[in-house]
Amino acid sequence: MDIDAASDEDVFEDARDRVERPMWRLFTEYGRGQRGAFLVGLVSSVFARMLDLLPPLLLALAIDAVIQGESGYSLLFVPQGLIPDETTGQLWLTAGLIAASFAGGAIFHYSRNWGWNKFAQHVQHAVRTDTYETMQRLNMDFFADKQTGEMMSVLSNDVNRLEKFLNDGLNSSSRLVIMVVGIATYLFYMNWQLALVALLPVPIIAVFTKRFIETIQPKYADVRSSVGRLNSRLENNLSGIQIIKTANTETYESDRVEDSSQEYLDANWDAIETRITFFPGLRLVSGLGFVVTFVVGGLMVIGEAPAALSVALSPGEFVAFIIYTQRFVWPMAQFGQIINMYQRAYASAERVFGLMETPGRLAEADDAPPLSVTEGAVEYDDVTFGYDDDPVVEDVDFEVEGGDTVALVGPTGAGKSTVLKLLLRMYDVDEGAVRIDGQDLRDVQIPSIRQAIGYVSQETFLFYGTVRENIAYGTFDATDEEIRAAAEAAEAHQFVENLPDGYDTMVGERGVKLSGGQRQRIAIARAMLKDPEILVLDEATSDVDTETEMLIQRSLDELTSERTTFAIAHRLSTVKDADTILVLEDGRVVERGTHAELLASEGLYANLWAVQAGEIDELPEEFVQRAIQRRARTDADD
Ligand code: ADP
Repeated sequence: MDIDAASDEDVFEDARDRVERPMWRLFTEYGRGQRGAFLVGLVSSVFARMLDLLPPLLLALAIDAVIQGESGYSLLFVPQGLIPDETTGQLWLTAGLIAASFAGGAIFHYSRNWGWNKFAQHVQHAVRTDTYETMQRLNMDFFADKQTGEMMSVLSNDVNRLEKFLNDGLNSSSRLVIMVVGIATYLFYMNWQLALVALLPVPIIAVFTKRFIETIQPKYADVRSSVGRLNSRLENNLSGIQIIKTANTETYESDRVEDSSQEYLDANWDAIETRITFFPGLRLVSGLGFVVTFVVGGLMVIGEAPAALSVALSPGEFVAFIIYTQRFVWPMAQFGQIINMYQRAYASAERVFGLMETPGRLAEADDAPPLSVTEGAVEYDDVTFGYDDDPVVEDVDFEVEGGDTVALVGPTGAGKSTVLKLLLRMYDVDEGAVRIDGQDLRDVQIPSIRQAIGYVSQETFLFYGTVRENIAYGTFDATDEEIRAAAEAAEAHQFVENLPDGYDTMVGERGVKLSGGQRQRIAIARAMLKDPEILVLDEATSDVDTETEMLIQRSLDELTSERTTFAIAHRLSTVKDADTILVLEDGRVVERGTHAELLASEGLYANLWAVQAGEIDELPEEFVQRAIQRRARTDADD
């Protein structure tokens, strides 16, 4: 019956398997702080429901004692002396008590909702913030093989589902228990024979509800997967709208969207048909029960019931029976929904806790000291690393003195970015070691490594916020003057001044769109402001035009002169002054030296240089062949 597990392909399957008793944990770990609200919810539920049940009882009493004058008027827990003798007084007393039970009911309904909502909302808040915090700390490889959408779904859908269960689910189940137990007890107490007759539909309703759940759940699963497909199609088309227009495929795409939407409609309609049959069906069963209770009860009242059922029943009790029987059915019908809600919440709790328990691949000793950078010397000691089983970088071995600039060049996919990610300890090496000033990165605190390194990548991400906030991101205590100085040094100040609100212009998603070059200059300003000991430039100037690049290069020279710098570049002109140039091919360092040395050795670098400098038109055949072979290998891997 677990729809989530049965239908959706769950990327958190492994994580879910690790979790035991997730609902118990939800209550003990997160519910503990909200015990007060939980108790208010529970106790108020009991009182609210008991007060709900009171009016029919008072009504029965009034009919028998006051209207019919058949029996004496007495109330449980109320001393007989307080009850008026004459009928008018008794009628007023009954009316007053009914009004009081409605008023009391209203108050308890309020405090019940207050309690359950407070409990659920606070647990939801705590789970959400905790899950985000844990997710943020997971290793990069976790993010690489999960879709952002899937993680968003845990943070929003799963967390919301827990809230729904803790609020609606607990509320409905407490109502179910109180109403069913309360009503059944009272009916049996009044007249057990008629109680048996009145409760006759209950097993039928139970079987009926079970069948309904079994039928509807696979249908709901279909609805969910078809809505998933429809959303992906819509999302995909909206992001590819430019291609759709240029390829003139609007009609084709409209048809595809129509197909997906039709599929969704069909699935939904199928579920709707089942649902709209169930509730009238339930009504019919309870209606039949009503008729049978009415007939048997009626016969009892007029004293004509068949032998086994011939017991006395007063008209008041008869009315109470009829009303209570009706009240019994709806909580029963909700039973299925509660089970459903519980199962979905269970699967969600498993995913949430599973995620929280995802083991991190990066170990950090509790007593690890922070990295202490003195010279800024970096050493790659025979480093081998692969994201999966196959190594992506192999036997990379080099040393950089503090303050030097190292350039990494080579074809796309050679492993240049990977080498630098190891310096930031985004991943751990499989073999060998990376050291900064003699300290193995695995032996120091991870945040201290990232603090010491400034990273400017080819994809510059801007957060939704002002330009100022984006430059000061990570250096939150920077003054306006420092921010401006950093922007000036990154050649960003001028274009920022020209934006509608200058440094206060909102950028990033939903903000003003900046060009790739402008974004990159903001990222460079961010690095300048951070003033790190070591700088990593991963194609930092790839998105800017040659003229801007020249300007940035000047400021970069200033930024890099004093500190150890790693630069990845395709345009070799930007790195020719580096102290050392490492040429990577297929994850290995194939050439190394200064620009002059590499030119002299006439290898890959010298030829790439010649092509880029326009000295030769194309790479010599030997290098082209190597590139073709390499491409073929990577394509085959994919
Ligand atoms: P370069 O920076 O030289 O272009 P990369 O270091 O980005 O090269 O990539 C080297 C190889 O590693 C490529 O084959 C790439 O597909 C692979 N790769 C890069 N990042 C990941 C990742 N997160 N997971 C798996 N493979 C990756």
